[in-house]
Amino acid sequence: MMISVPCCKKEGGAVATVEEAFRDSRCDAEQHMVACEQAGLRWNETSITEIVVSRAARGVTVVPFTQRAEALSGADWVWWWVDAMGAYGMLVQAKRVTVTGTEWSFGFDYQSKHATRRQRENLRSAAKSLDLLPVYALYLGSGVYRGWEPCCENHMNEGCYECIKRSVSLMPELLAEQLIVNDAVSTYERSVAIEDLWDSPQSESMLIPALRPQLAPELAEFLNEEQDGTRAVARQMIDRVLRARAGVFGAAPTIAVNPPRSGEHDRLGPVFNDFPADTGHWGINYFDYTLAPLRHAPPSYVIDVMSGAIDVEHLASEMPENVAGIVVVHLPQQRVNEK
Ligand SMILES: [Zn+2]
Repeated sequence: MMISVPCCKKEGGAVATVEEAFRDSRCDAEQHMVACEQAGLRWNETSITEIVVSRAARGVTVVPFTQRAEALSGADWVWWWVDAMGAYGMLVQAKRVTVTGTEWSFGFDYQSKHATRRQRENLRSAAKSLDLLPVYALYLGSGVYRGWEPCCENHMNEGCYECIKRSVSLMPELLAEQLIVNDAVSTYERSVAIEDLWDSPQSESMLIPALRPQLAPELAEFLNEEQDGTRAVARQMIDRVLRARAGVFGAAPTIAVNPPRSGEHDRLGPVFNDFPADTGHWGINYFDYTLAPLRHAPPSYVIDVMSGAIDVEHLASEMPENVAGIVVVHLPQQRVNEK
C-alpha cells in the first residue's frame, strides 16, 4: 500500500525554519524506510541517521566529525537545544524497531561479539562525561510497518498524522528498559516525536504525592507551568520519566534531601541544583539525571560551534570516541503564544 506523507519542502538548499527542517528530515527518513519495506530491504540506523541529520542541517547547525563517522557505525551524536533562556544537551544513539506481530523490539542491551561492553554503557558514560542526557532516537518505520497501532488518544486509524510523526521519536535512555518497552503502548508512552519535542506540555508534570513537599520553588514552578523553547524540551523528557515513576507502584520513595551543590549561583551552570533525592526503581537520581543538562547558557564549545569559530579536529579530539558529531538547534522562542 502506498502512503502519502505530508511534506512541505522548500526548494533545493534553501534555509528552513527549525520546524520545517525537522519535518523534512522525518519525511525523507520515513520515505526511505517505506521504500525499504516495500523492497523487502532491512533499513539500518546509520542510513536513517544520515538522512535525519543531513536534512535537519538546512535549519540547524551540524558539525560532523567526518573521519570518525566513517570509521564507526552506530556512533552517537551530541545534540544541543539552545535559545535565549538557556540550553539543554543530549547524547543521542539511534535504535530501529523490529516489529514481530504486536511485539516491538529495539535491542537496547545489544552487545556485538567483538565489543568489550554494550553500546548502552558507552552512551551512558560518554553522556556523563559531557553532562548530557543520554537519549535514544527511535526509528519506527512506517505506520503500515507498525500496523497502525494507536499512537495516542487522538489516533485516526490508517494515515494518522500523529503516527506518521512518530517515525522518528526520542526516548530518555533511562526509560529504554528492554523488558518493559516491547510494544506500541510502552514505546509511545515513553517517547516523543522529534517534531513535538519543543511543544509546550499541555498539563502539569505527573508527580507522586511524596515528591511534592520535596520540590524547591523554582523546580515546582518549572514542572507546573507552561514552558517553551529549551525548557519545553527538558519538560518533555522529565515528564516521561515522572510518568513512568508514577506508574511503578509498591516502591515507596525514599524521603531525603540533597545538599545543595557548590556553584549554586553560577549563572552559566545548571538551571536547577536542588532536586528531590528519589531514585525510583532505577537506582539513580532521575531528576538530576534528566535536568542537570538544562543550563543557563550553552558550554563554550557550543558557543564556538554557533559562531562558526571552531577547529573541528581539535573539538573531535576532546570528545569521547563514540561521538560522531554535534548538532546545535537554535529554537524559536514563544511558540506557546503563537498557538
Ligand atoms: Zn496515530
